[in-house]
This record gives sequence, C-alpha cells and structure tokens, in this order.
Amino acid sequence: MRSRLPAKLCILLILFLFAASPVQAGDTLFQYSTFDALLAGLYEGGLTMAELKKRGNFGLGTFNNLDGEMVVLNGKVYQLKTDGKVYPVADTMKTPLAAVTFFKADQSLAIPKANNFQELTALLDQALVSKNLFFAVQIEGRFKEVKVRSVPRQTPPYQPLVQVVKKQAVFPLKEVEGTIVGFYCPAYLKTVGVPGYHFHFITKDRTQGGHVQDLAFENLTARIDALPGFSLLLPQNQEFYKADLTKDRLHEVEKVEK
Ligand code: ZN
Repeated sequence: MRSRLPAKLCILLILFLFAASPVQAGDTLFQYSTFDALLAGLYEGGLTMAELKKRGNFGLGTFNNLDGEMVVLNGKVYQLKTDGKVYPVADTMKTPLAAVTFFKADQSLAIPKANNFQELTALLDQALVSKNLFFAVQIEGRFKEVKVRSVPRQTPPYQPLVQVVKKQAVFPLKEVEGTIVGFYCPAYLKTVGVPGYHFHFITKDRTQGGHVQDLAFENLTARIDALPGFSLLLPQNQEFYKADLTKDRLHEVEKVEK
C-alpha cells in the first residue's frame, strides 16, 4: 500500500499538467514591448536575438536604434536595412519590438489573385475563424510586385516613429520570389500590436526585403496559424518606465504602417 500512493499522486499530477496547459507552445504569440512604445520613440530594448529565438522561429520586428526591419524565418533572423540589403544578425543584437511564434499552419488558403494589399487582407478576413485571435500568416512563392520599406538607424534624442518614417527607403521589388511573414492582431489590442495585418517580406535568395506596403500576386497559398495564446514581455529600462503611453496614437499607425 505504501508504494502505491506515490504512483497515484504521479498520475494525478500528470493529469493536472495536461489539463493546465491546453495551449501548445506553437499556439502562442510572443511579443516584446508594445507598438505604442515604438510609436513613442522607444527604440532601445533589452531582449537579445538569442532570447527571441527561444520564443519562436517565425516573426518580425525591428532592431535597437530602429536599425532596419526584422524578419524571422525558419529560426533565422534577418536585418533588412535602408540600403535595400539584408544583413546577418548576431545573437547578441537587441530589439525594442519583436513578435514571434513557432509557426505550424493549421489552415491553408488558396488565393487565385490579389492585386493589392487590400484585396489580400479582404480574402484573409473571410478565411480567419475569428477576428478576435492572433494569427500568423505565411505566403511563399513568386510575386508580381512587393513594395517594401525600411527605416533608417536612429540616434538619441529619438523622434517619434511618425517623424522617422518620413525618411524611410522604399523598394518596389518586381517579379520576385520570396516569403511574406506576418501577423494578424485583433483590433481590441490596438495599442499593443499593429491592429490588422502586419507583413514583412524577404526574397528567396535572402538579399532583399522589408516592411510590406503593397503587393500583387497570382496563384499562391496563404498558410495560417491560429494563435490563441499571447505572451507579452515588457522592457525593463528607465525609458519604458517613464514613457507617457496614455496618448492615443491610433492616427499615427496609418501613417507609419501604410
Ligand atoms: Zn513592419
């Protein structure tokens, strides 16, 4: 009898652990800092690429000093700078804002044609099981056009993002093979993420890319991963502690993202 009690406890503990974790690791979006903080000009974070990669193998963001756009694809991090080139990223580099997940598609959407960003997002809207969850979206193949931008490296004192994007570099990539990496963020989290769809792009040969402003393609498949879990890690520095994040910056989002 004495030896059977711990066995029962073990079984109970295992059952409890299963019941307590219905969301798998791959079903969680991990985000560092908030989009509002970036809009406010908080361009220095403490999260390293080594730490970010532990939280996901797919995603996007930017780097400290707002030094270009970030793509995370198949576990590798890429830096897409304003010179239009892609740079390798050291594990010691840090980010002020990034979002990643372990991508595992649970839905595929065949898209015969999308003439622009709005047409693509209208089709995705119809396919998403809810507008109230996060989703990761991946589209791979040949694109007629992908218009990408990147943001220039900043030095303190930092200007708000809406000022900085006036100096962004825009690259209209034509007839290009590559991958769209992005997320859908529910409207009710508009100060935390970029509300709606936020896409970055990198070419198949990993030489060009950036934040997607517009795109056009035919006959590609969107792979979609629903993310009911959300994990938010906030910066631990004086700039974040003292920043005024009470201001409504929603009108700035349109100028910055589109
Ligand atoms: Zn972006």
